[in-house]
Amino acid sequence: SPSQGYYTRRGGVGESGDFITSPEISQVFGELIGIWYISEWMAMGKPSTFQLVELGPGRGTLTEDILRVFKQLASVLSKCDVSVHLVEVSPKLSEIQAVMLTGGKVHPSPEDESAYMKGISKTGIPIFWYRDIQDVPPGYSFYLAHEFFDALPIHKFQRTEKGWREVLVDIDPEVPDQLRFVLSPSGTPATQNFIQPEETRDHVEVCPEAGVIVQRLASRIEKDGGAALVADYGHDGTKTDTFRGFRNHKLHDVLSAPGTADLTADVDFSYLRKMAQGKTATLGPIKQREFLKNMGIDLRLQVLLQNSSDTATREQLLHSYDMLMNPEKMGDCFNFFALLPHHRLAHPDKKDKPESKSPLPPVAGFNELLLK
Ligand code: SAH
Repeated sequence: SPSQGYYTRRGGVGESGDFITSPEISQVFGELIGIWYISEWMAMGKPSTFQLVELGPGRGTLTEDILRVFKQLASVLSKCDVSVHLVEVSPKLSEIQAVMLTGGKVHPSPEDESAYMKGISKTGIPIFWYRDIQDVPPGYSFYLAHEFFDALPIHKFQRTEKGWREVLVDIDPEVPDQLRFVLSPSGTPATQNFIQPEETRDHVEVCPEAGVIVQRLASRIEKDGGAALVADYGHDGTKTDTFRGFRNHKLHDVLSAPGTADLTADVDFSYLRKMAQGKTATLGPIKQREFLKNMGIDLRLQVLLQNSSDTATREQLLHSYDMLMNPEKMGDCFNFFALLPHHRLAHPDKKDKPESKSPLPPVAGFNELLLK
């Protein structure tokens, strides 16, 4: 909701907020994602320009860590024209992002421009803010959505003896100011449109907005080139009832005090894959601990440990590594998923195309990183 929604009113990402995310836990997370983009940019023949487009950047920490990598690898990127495009609905979070990334040096754009704010990053890269992915100008782009899709609204459905019914929110007639879940008495337009005919589960959550956004990303990648990296907790079309709320890092009843708690549902990657079908190839979902291991997190940890002499920093590094990688913590429940142009994954068959050059390197993260 533009006026009463959680992200427009509160949006408490981070230690002092309602939930903590991987980029807020360790800078290594964002650095490895930065390396993923560089490695894809190289694999795709080092195009002369690219846009980094992040959906729901939170506090801006992930972009900050990625831009640090871009700066460290400035000699590699020297001939490339890079710009950053942030899609953010929360006025409060966009202010926090502006301070984090530009030191507060931003100005609002005139009404007729598609971006509502712009500035220059501390590392000298132009940054633009938008409310909708459709406002981002076309062009070769690398997209990023970390803990974005789980924040979008879902429909819930229950299989009954009489067929699929939608789970709706109602005002409890018995208790004042109390909401309750009810089942629709008959089918609804959503039960007719969003349940796949081959569905085998009894309870299903569908996020049509995520489907529409993935279709848009896939069309843009098909037309202008680039890639998208999606990371979130989720499943591959197997889980059922995952809708839950968080407030002050504790589980919170989703129906109580609406607009004051983070509401979230696991991302159904099988649905996202279906939405990209035909336009782009997809990779994953792969578990976060496998993705980060493939990206070289162990080596990065060793280097940071060697370079830090005080015990507190070393303990912090080990603790954050454990949070990201431990299967009981974030290692197993978070997944990585990518959209890539079909030709990126096509393995040229020498017999069919004798003129084809050496095959493209495997996509990092989903395979071991091979940086020359
Ligand atoms: N990626 C960050 C933040 C995740 S929280 C991290 O991992 O730390 C979700 C983010 O998506 C917030 O920045 C929130 O304001 C933004 N958001 C939520 N709904 C949105 C929408 N419909 N359009 C654009 N941004 C949205």
